[in-house]
Amino acid sequence: MAATFPSQGHQIVVIGGGAAGLAVASRLLRLNNRLDVAVIEPAEFHYYQPGWTLVGAGVFADTSTRRAMRGLMPMGATWIQDAVSAIEPGHHQVVLADGATVGYDHLIVCPGIICDWGAIDGLEASLGQNGVCSNYRYDMAPYTWECIQGFQGGNAVFTAAPMPFKCPGAPQKILYLAADHFQRKGQSADLHYYLATPVIFGVPPFARALEKVADRYGVNRHYQHQLVAVDGPARRATFEATAGDGQKTRVEQAFDLLHVTPPQRAPDFIRQSPLANAAGFVDVDKFSLRHVKYPNIYALGDVAATPNSKTAGAVRQQAPVVVKNLLAQMRGKEPTHRYDGYGTCPLTTANGKVMLAEFVYDGVVTPTFPLDPYVERRSMWWMKTSLLPFLYWEIMLRGYEINVPHHRARNYPEPA
Ligand SMILES: Cc1cc2nc3c(=O)[nH]c(=O)nc-3n(C[C@H](O)[C@H](O)[C@H](O)COP(=O)(O)OP(=O)(O)OC[C@H]3O[C@@H](n4cnc5c(N)ncnc54)[C@H](O)[C@@H]3O)c2cc1C
Repeated sequence: MAATFPSQGHQIVVIGGGAAGLAVASRLLRLNNRLDVAVIEPAEFHYYQPGWTLVGAGVFADTSTRRAMRGLMPMGATWIQDAVSAIEPGHHQVVLADGATVGYDHLIVCPGIICDWGAIDGLEASLGQNGVCSNYRYDMAPYTWECIQGFQGGNAVFTAAPMPFKCPGAPQKILYLAADHFQRKGQSADLHYYLATPVIFGVPPFARALEKVADRYGVNRHYQHQLVAVDGPARRATFEATAGDGQKTRVEQAFDLLHVTPPQRAPDFIRQSPLANAAGFVDVDKFSLRHVKYPNIYALGDVAATPNSKTAGAVRQQAPVVVKNLLAQMRGKEPTHRYDGYGTCPLTTANGKVMLAEFVYDGVVTPTFPLDPYVERRSMWWMKTSLLPFLYWEIMLRGYEINVPHHRARNYPEPA
């Protein structure tokens, strides 16, 4: 193949200006403002996606979760406002949607993951009307609150997609917030939670605690049921149920409100690149976050093939690891910093109450605070609604590192 010469080149190229891209680019430049860092990001706006659950529950305004990208790009970074369409690691370059190429010495890959709305028959046509809503889109989250407020009784149905999807706690957060709203209004509801997985949460002690929350609200749980079709006008959802012996059957559920968590996957340009593993995610070492084949490439955030919970909380811990390892590598050293798989999920169990789930690889529970982690707390609600947005916008995206250590759970009695 003939050698190609990139239209422009940079020392460090970051793909994506989301939570991970901005955190890592700002941190690099904060530590060394002489670095030549380019961020490739097509969008005009950056979104604080963890706030969308609260938009769907009428707690936040949608506009409070959105800021202009221009104001968040780190000083000293070159913003290339375009989308990457291909990665050519053999040539140390990426191809942009307009056909131009950008060369790099080091590449950091973090374009997030895609919500695959089209994978569910009839969903795209139904969304935003007939009680079909989703917090997984900025423009749709306000409709969730409209549906919850306007609910007049009947079936309120909530779905969770097959793993992996971002914020695995988000489908049940909105379920509990809706259930709490109905209770306060004295509105009866038949609550249904359809999950593609066989468990309510991937970390067993929190699963046990959450089963109790679901029992308290009288939620009917339907495990191993995957949403496959939605008929908005008829208000019917179809699920594929998988029995213990693997047998699959179709199940229909009438709904008056349907909150959908769509299936999610890595972007096509990642799936089709030599960087992807068999599942389509960027194949990095789960500790160093460096690519297993291309030592000048790192990945973090939702697109990385690391077995952690895909959350902004994980990004907060991953970004400093990538930065330290890359800077060490640029000084001729091997990466020494390790990401421990930290993920966090502030589970909104009622309006005003949060159970803060924090854990690392292999489901080890690791609270930051010396408090029983299985308790629903008002203080954690304040953290979710006030402190975490501040930490996100003003600390993480601005490239500051607050290293609050999390510890293995200190003998708190697990929920029975
Ligand atoms: C409803 C909901 C609730 C959530 N709740 C929580 C929570 O409570 N706590 C928590 O910690 N996390 C939560 N999350 C998850 C969190 O938002 C994500 O894990 C986090 O945003 C991942 O960061 P990222 O940078 O990998 O991806 P993103 O933040 O999604 O950013 C990806 C960026 O890449 C850009 N991009 C895409 N394609 C290309 C391309 N081809 N070229 C260049 N750029 C591209 C996009 O425009 C985007 O700006 C929630 C998410 C949702 C949707």
